[in-house]
Amino acid sequence: MANVLIALGGNVGDVRATFAQAIPAIGDAAQAELLARSSDYETPPWGRGDQPAYVNACIAIATKLPPRELLSALQAVEARFGRNRAAETRWGPRTLDLDILAYDDVRIDLPGLTIPHPRLFERAFVLVPLAEIAPDRPIDGRTPREALAGVSTVDIRRLPAHG
Ligand code: ATP
Ligand code: MG
Ligand code: MG
Repeated sequence: MANVLIALGGNVGDVRATFAQAIPAIGDAAQAELLARSSDYETPPWGRGDQPAYVNACIAIATKLPPRELLSALQAVEARFGRNRAAETRWGPRTLDLDILAYDDVRIDLPGLTIPHPRLFERAFVLVPLAEIAPDRPIDGRTPREALAGVSTVDIRRLPAHG
């Protein structure tokens, strides 16, 4: 079983309700066990400012799926929850984004899959939830806790538990 960290994000529709349904759907699609789930956080948009605030979270799962199959499974879950890449601009609004942050200690650099996720350490919206569930897990020689010290977390707000 591989221990995998996944980032969730979205800013279209009821994103927290989407997360609540998408997390069990990931479990089914990836034949995975949920090991940890962060709180949800409201975060400012990244990459393009002209869009609504995001909700972000991170989960840790244990899965037998290899990385590329896992990516396909996650993309199927994104689509099921309304993600339509054909109609999107890069880093623009979306219902659900599921990114593989880390897969055990595996390193992959393929055109359609880079692990660890290359922009992980510059993103407070990833590091804040990640530090909640895996503060001391080394990724590319750094831990989320260490990396978090190097980014601004102003404007990131932890949301109360989702009812
Ligand atoms: P970013 O990668 O900067 O967060 P994004 O999540 O908005 O951008 P998407 O439109 O969701 O980008 O995906 C674009 C492509 O990124 C996907 O088709 C996928 O093949 C590729 N990709 C590469 N590495 C990863 C990864 N670690 N997790 C998820 N997708 C990845
Ligand atoms: Mg992304
Ligand atoms: Mg993505």
